[in-house]
Amino acid sequence: MTIPDWLQFEEGWLAPYAMPSRLSRGRRYPEDPHPYRTIFQRDRERIVHCAAFRRLMGKTQVIVAQWNDHHRTRLTHTLEVAQISRTIARRLRLNEDLVEAIALSHDLGHPPFGHAGEAALDECLRQHGGFDHNLFGLYQVDEREHRYPEFPGLNLSWEVREAFVQHSQRRDLPETAPFFAMGAPLLEAQVVDLADSLAYDTHDIDDALGTELLTFDDLESVEFWCRAAEIARQKYPELRRHEFRVAVIRHLIAWQVGDLIEETSRRLQEFDIRTLADVRNASVPLVGFGPEVSQLKADLEQFLHQTVYQHHRVLRLAHKGKRILKALFAEFVRSPELLPPRHLRRWQDLPPTWLQRTQRSAGGTIHDSAKVPLERVVGDYLAGMTDRFAQQEYLRLFQPSTDE
Ligand code: MG
Repeated sequence: MTIPDWLQFEEGWLAPYAMPSRLSRGRRYPEDPHPYRTIFQRDRERIVHCAAFRRLMGKTQVIVAQWNDHHRTRLTHTLEVAQISRTIARRLRLNEDLVEAIALSHDLGHPPFGHAGEAALDECLRQHGGFDHNLFGLYQVDEREHRYPEFPGLNLSWEVREAFVQHSQRRDLPETAPFFAMGAPLLEAQVVDLADSLAYDTHDIDDALGTELLTFDDLESVEFWCRAAEIARQKYPELRRHEFRVAVIRHLIAWQVGDLIEETSRRLQEFDIRTLADVRNASVPLVGFGPEVSQLKADLEQFLHQTVYQHHRVLRLAHKGKRILKALFAEFVRSPELLPPRHLRRWQDLPPTWLQRTQRSAGGTIHDSAKVPLERVVGDYLAGMTDRFAQQEYLRLFQPSTDE
C-alpha cells in the first residue's frame, strides 16, 4: 500500500510499538478515507462535535457543578486528561491523535452526579445487567448520537471503541470478546488510563482546597503533598496561599508525568517491546508509575477517600443526586407515558441493540420480547442527562407549582 505524503509523518515519527493509522481495523460502517485527515484525527473531531461531549460541561466530576465556577466539571477534567495524555504520548512517540480521541471520549458515558449517579443507576438496573459507564459510553458513540445520515452514532474506529471495552473489564459478554481477543490494550489506551488517575488525584486536591473541603493543615499528613510543597517553597519562598497552591499542584502533575514517562520507557526496554505485536502479547501493564510514586499516589488516594469523598458536603450532594435519579427512574418505569416521545418510541418500536441484549443476558431477566426493556430505556435517558437537567426534570415531575 502506498502511503500518501500527508501521512508520512506517522511513518517517520511514531515508535514501532505505537498504533499507526494505516493499521487501524477500521469502522463498523466502512467509509472512504479522508483526503488529508487520519482515521483517529476524524474520530477526535467527531467526538468534540457530538452532543454527549458538550453535556460533559454539566456533569459532576467530584464537586457538584453549581458550587462555584472554578472547580473541575467532567468536561474540564476530560480536557486535562487529554492534554496530559498528549504530552506523554509525544514523549513516547505514540499516536497523539489516537490518544486524544480516547481521552476526549473516556468519560462520555458518565451519568449525572458523578460516582453517586453511577451507583444509583447500577442499583436501579440490577435486574437488567446493571450500569457500566464504559459500556454506556460505547453505546452513546455507537448508537445514541445522530449526526450522519449514512450510519447511526459516530462510527468511530475499532481502536477508540476498544478502549471503552478494555476499560470496562467486562469479559463476560459475547459482544466484548472480540475486543479482548486482540490481547493487551494499546499503549495509547494505557496512557489515557493513567493520565486519568494522575489528573483526578491532583485536581481533586486543588478543588478540595478551593472549595474549603480541605485546608493546608489537613494535607500535612500526605507525604506526596508535603514533598511537592517543600520543593515549591524552596523555589518560591514568598508565595501567597493561592499561588503556593497552584505551584504545588503544578509540581505534582509534572512529577507524575515525568515519572510515568521514565518508568514506561524502562518497562518497554525491560520487556523488549519492539512492535505492536509485542504490546498486544505483553502480560503486564507497560505504562505505569515507578514504585515510589505508586506508593505516594496510593496514600494520597486513601486520604482523598477518607476526607474529600466522605466530606459531609460532598455526601449530601451525592445522596441528593442518587435520590433524584432513583425517583425519576421509579416514576418513568411506573408511567412510561411521561417520557419524552423520542424515548418512549425507543421502548415501543425499536428492537434492542447488541448492548441492550448483552446487558440483559449478562445480568438479569431474559425476555422473549423483541422490545428493549422499559427499564433500560429509562436508564439510558437518565444516564445521558446533565446534573442540571436531571434536577429540572425532577422539579417538573414532582413539584406541584411547575407547569410542564
Ligand atoms: Mg475520567
